[in-house]
Amino acid sequence: MTVGSFHPPQRTLMGPGPSDVNPRILEAMSRPTIGHLDPAFIGMMDEVKGLLKYAFQTENELTMPVSAPGSAGMETCFTNLVEPGDKVIVCQNGVFGGRMKENVERCGGVAVMVEDKWGDAVDPQKLEDALKANSDTKIVAFVHAETSTGAQSDAKTLVKIAHQYGCLTIVDAVTSLGGTEVKVDEWKIDAIYSGTQKCLSCTPGLSPVSFSEAALEKIRNRQTRVQSWFLDLNLVMGYWGSGGKRAYHHTAPVNALYGLHEALVILQDEGIENSWARHQKHHLALCAGLESMGLSFVVDEAHRLPQLNAVTIPDGVDDAAVRAALLRDYSLEIGAGLGVMAGKVWRIGLMGHACNSRNVLLCLAALEDVLGRVGANYERGVAVGAAERVLAAA
Ligand SMILES: *Cc1c(COP(=O)(O)O)cnc(C)c1O
Repeated sequence: MTVGSFHPPQRTLMGPGPSDVNPRILEAMSRPTIGHLDPAFIGMMDEVKGLLKYAFQTENELTMPVSAPGSAGMETCFTNLVEPGDKVIVCQNGVFGGRMKENVERCGGVAVMVEDKWGDAVDPQKLEDALKANSDTKIVAFVHAETSTGAQSDAKTLVKIAHQYGCLTIVDAVTSLGGTEVKVDEWKIDAIYSGTQKCLSCTPGLSPVSFSEAALEKIRNRQTRVQSWFLDLNLVMGYWGSGGKRAYHHTAPVNALYGLHEALVILQDEGIENSWARHQKHHLALCAGLESMGLSFVVDEAHRLPQLNAVTIPDGVDDAAVRAALLRDYSLEIGAGLGVMAGKVWRIGLMGHACNSRNVLLCLAALEDVLGRVGANYERGVAVGAAERVLAAA
C-alpha cells in the first residue's frame, strides 16, 4: 500500500495552543531553505533577536529562540540556572508549576513548593512567608499565565519580593507573551521563556527566551557544567550570540525561524499594546456570551487571562461529546481540562491570530447549538447577542 500526501483539515483553533497560524506565516515558512550560516540567514537571525526584544520589552542581549517547543525553553532556564544543591521556591497554581518542580529536581536542586488553589493567582504573601522561612533560597520560579486554569499572576510583585530576598527569578510566559502585558526590563525578570504557538500564532516548535545580566553572571560562574549539552547557554551563545562570527552548534530550524520572523513582524506592525488590547476586548465579548449561557469562569474576574477562558462544564453535560460535535460540525477545537480539571472545564483560547470577532461569535453560536442538542436549555442567539453588544460598544 502506498501512502499519499497528508492534507490536514481546515480547523479553527480555540484551545490552549496551538492557535490559528496567520497564513502570512505559513507562506513565509514555504520560502527556499538556505544554509544556516549563510550571511543572509545570519542577518535574519539578528532581526529575530531584535524583534524578540520588542516582544519581551527588554534590552537583554541574550534574547533568542531555543530550537524546540516551550518545554525546552523551560528546561533551558532551569538547567542553566539551577546547580546541584540549590534551593528553588516554585509557586504552583496549576499544571505547569508542577513541571517546574520536576525540572528543579532533575537538575539536582531542592524544590520548595508554595501552593495556591488551581484557578487562583499566586499569592505574594505566601511567597514572602516561604522566603522568610527559607533564607538560603537562590531562585524563585512561577508561571505568569497558567494555561491549565486561565489565571494570571502578578509577575511584577512576585519578582520584586524575590529580589528583596536576593533571589533570581524564572518566569513562564508561554501563554502570556503577545496576549497580555509582559515587561521583562520594567519588572526586572531574570530568566523568561515562552512558546511560538500560543499568542504569537506561529507554528509550534520554538521557544523564545531572555536572560538578564544577573542571570548570565550566575551561569558564567557555575561550579558545575550544565548537564545538557544541547541547552548549555555557554555553547548556544556562540551560535546566537552577538557579533558577526557564528560557530556551528546545531542546525537551526531554518524555515521555522522564517515563520517566527514573520510572526514577530506582524506583532511589530500591529503594536504590542494594540495586541494586548485586542485580546482584552475579545475576551470581554466572549465572557459576556458565555456568562449569558450560564457558564461560569474558573478564575475570579480580577485574575482572568484574556487569552485563556476556562469555564466549568454544566452538570450532566458530556465533555467529550460536546468537543467532538464542535470539531465534527464546526471544525472548531476548544480545549479539554488538564490535570485535576480534566472533565470539569473547557478551556477556550483567544490567542493571537485566532483572537477576533468572527471566532468569538462562531464559538458562541456553535456552543449554543451543540449544548442545545445535548439537552441543555439555551435560548438561541442570546450568547451571540450579548457578545455583539460588547463588541459594538468597544
Ligand atoms: C504550552 C505551555 C508550556 C509548554 O509549551 P510546549 O510548546 O507545549 O512545550 C509551558 N508552560 C505553559 C504555561 C504553557 O501554556
